[in-house]
Formats: sequence, structure tokens, C-alpha cells
Amino acid sequence: MPKNAIVILPDQDSPDFLIKQKKLQKIHQKLQNCAQCSLCQYRTHVVSGEGHPCAQLVFIGEAPGAQEDLQGRPFVGKAGQLLDRMISAIGLKREDVFITNVVKCRPPGNRNPTPDEVQECSPFLFEQLQIIQPKIIVCLGKFAAQTLLQTHTPITQLRGKLYPFHGAQIIPTFHPAYLLRNPSAKREVWEDLKQVAAQLALKIPTFEQRKP
Ligand code: SF4
Repeated sequence: MPKNAIVILPDQDSPDFLIKQKKLQKIHQKLQNCAQCSLCQYRTHVVSGEGHPCAQLVFIGEAPGAQEDLQGRPFVGKAGQLLDRMISAIGLKREDVFITNVVKCRPPGNRNPTPDEVQECSPFLFEQLQIIQPKIIVCLGKFAAQTLLQTHTPITQLRGKLYPFHGAQIIPTFHPAYLLRNPSAKREVWEDLKQVAAQLALKIPTFEQRKP
């Protein structure tokens, strides 16, 4: 793997890492008993998110799916495997970034979260972002992008641009689950990922360098 600026993150015994890890853990604990919306009735696990507490890059999806609900981890199904490849394509590993969702419990049957559910759950996401203080936030799909940008503009119009957000930059792009259904949109997502790499001064690895 090529040396990338973002890989130089605080060590696991540094004060910054430990303080942020503790704060994120507190949110995780608080979420375990959360019953602020009706989604608490259907969940197996609350999926609070995971990754480096000092990550410069955060990925935000919509809500956990079936696999995520079972395992209590974000993006572990087929869409998650594609997200892993997207992260690897810009020279990073999953543990270099933080991954979470707008809504932390699985909507039944993978339906879209309702505006009320987003309203109840999104403050937890904002707390997480306030702790992590990333440089770049990649919003995967319309729910994440529209929630953070407070807009109803479609994702097709939002993507391809950068938006300031409390000292960070938001880069909206398509959700990996959408890419699985519409592989031709991968070209646009690759353009968005190149923007991420440029903003973080990452060296994009060759295909050979990405091989394990
Ligand atoms: S979706 Fe969010 S607000 Fe609703 S019960 Fe789960 S953690 Fe609480």
C-alpha cells in the first residue's frame, strides 16, 4: 500500500485517540437502549458505526441492512464489500476511516427511513461528527446527503460538488447499493472518489498496488 498522508493518524495510545474513542464509546453505549423512534422494536443490534476515532474521512450511509442488523456493524453486506473496494481504490483501509449511517437501527424490510426517524436519530450522527472532526465526509446516497445538507435536491444534482460543513467538506455520491443495481454509475462515483483523494492529498494506487 502506498504511503498516504491520511494513514498518518494518531497512535492508539495517543491522548487524542483515547479521548475520542471514549466519547464515541459513550454514544455507542447510549444507543444500545435507545427507544426514541419505533425502529427500536425491530432491531437485533443498534449499528452505531465503526472506524478510526480520529479519521479524516467519514462515510455515511442511510441505515443498516439485514447483515448489518445481525452483526451490529455498518456496511458488511454486498454493498459493504463494494464500499471496501472504493476505500481501497483511494489507497486506504477500512480501519483508516469511520463508517456509519444516518439512522442506527434497521428499518423493517429495508424500507426507507421516515423523516421522523431521521429527525430522531440524526443528532447521534452529528455528535459523532463533532467528536471525530473529519476533513471529508462522503455522503453515500440521498438520505445522508439531504440530511447533512438540509435539502431536498436529488443526489444526481448534489453529487460532483463539494459543500462546506462545520469546517469539513461534504462530498455526496451514490450509495454502493445503488451501484450494485446500476454498475454504469461507477464512473461518476470514481470521479467523486478522485475528489476525495485530491482533498486529502492521497496518492491513488495502481490496480497492482491494491492487490492484497
Ligand atoms: S433508529 Fe436511532 S433514534 Fe430510532 S431507536 Fe434506533 S438509535 Fe434510537
